[in-house]
Amino acid sequence: DPGTRIAAVTGLAKSYGAVDAVRGVDLEIRSGEVLGIIGPNGAGKTTLVNMISGLEPPTAGEGEILGVPLGARPHRFAQAGVSRTFQHSKLFERLTVLDNVLVGTHVVSRSTYLRRLAWLPSARRDERRALALAWAQLERVGLADRAGLRPGALSYGDRRRLEIARALAAHPTLLILDEPAAGMNHVEAAELASLIRGLADDGVTVLFIEHNVKMVLEACTRLVVLDFGEVIAQGEPREVASDPRVIEAYLGTE
Ligand code: ATP
Repeated sequence: DPGTRIAAVTGLAKSYGAVDAVRGVDLEIRSGEVLGIIGPNGAGKTTLVNMISGLEPPTAGEGEILGVPLGARPHRFAQAGVSRTFQHSKLFERLTVLDNVLVGTHVVSRSTYLRRLAWLPSARRDERRALALAWAQLERVGLADRAGLRPGALSYGDRRRLEIARALAAHPTLLILDEPAAGMNHVEAAELASLIRGLADDGVTVLFIEHNVKMVLEACTRLVVLDFGEVIAQGEPREVASDPRVIEAYLGTE
C-alpha cells in the first residue's frame, strides 16, 4: 500500500579505517515515494545506498530493508525486491540491448535459454515470461526500437536508460539509482525525471542519488541531504533545497 513503511534503519554507520563515511543515519523509506539523496562529493551517499542494497555490511546500525536485516548477504536483498544501478556503467558490451535487459530477469542470455529449452520444458515458459518482461521494460524506457543493437551504439542517455530497464527487469519493489542523470543533457535529464515519476505511479518505490539538483527537484517527493556522513536536512524537496544549511553545505558550492 502507498505510504507503508518498507524500510527503516537507525544509527547506520560505516567506517573505512579512520574514515567515517556514514555516521549514524536514521532513514525510513515509504512505499510509492521517490526519495532523492543529495550531498557534496564524499558525503557518504554511495556508501549509504551500498548498505541499503546489501553490497556492504554496516559498521553499526540496525534495521530492515523489505524485511531483510542490514548486513545480510546481497542476494537476499535482490530476492526481497531491491534492484539498483551504479554510478559507472556496468553494461555487457557484447550482448544486445535486449539481452542486457534479459540479464536483469536473472537469466543469463537468450542463447542460454535456447540451450536450456532442449532439456527442460518449463524453461520455455520461463523464457516467454522473461522476454515479455524484458520487452516491457525496453518500451517503458523508450528503447524497444533499439533492442537488437549493442550498447556501444547507444547515446549516453540511452545507456543510462538501458541500465534502468535492466534493473526494472528484476521487477523490483525498491529501485535504487546512483546518479542516473550524470552526464545527461537538460532534455535527457527532464525525460529521466518524468520516467522516474512514472515508475512511482506504477508502484515502484525509488531511491536515487543525484547531483543535478534541478532534476532531483523535478523527480523526488522527498529529499534527504547528506553531509560528512550525516543527514543534515530532509523533507519536502523545495523546502529542503531552500534550507540555509543545505545551501551552505552544498548548493552554494554549485
Ligand atoms: P560522490 O558524490 O563523490 O560519489 P559519495 O557521497 O557517494 O561521493 P562515498 O563514495 O560514499 O561518497 O564516500 C564517502 C567517504 O568514504 C569518502 O571519504 C570516500 O573516500 C570514503 N570511501 C568510500 N568507499 C571507500 C572504500 N571502499 N575504502 C575507503 N574509503 C572509502
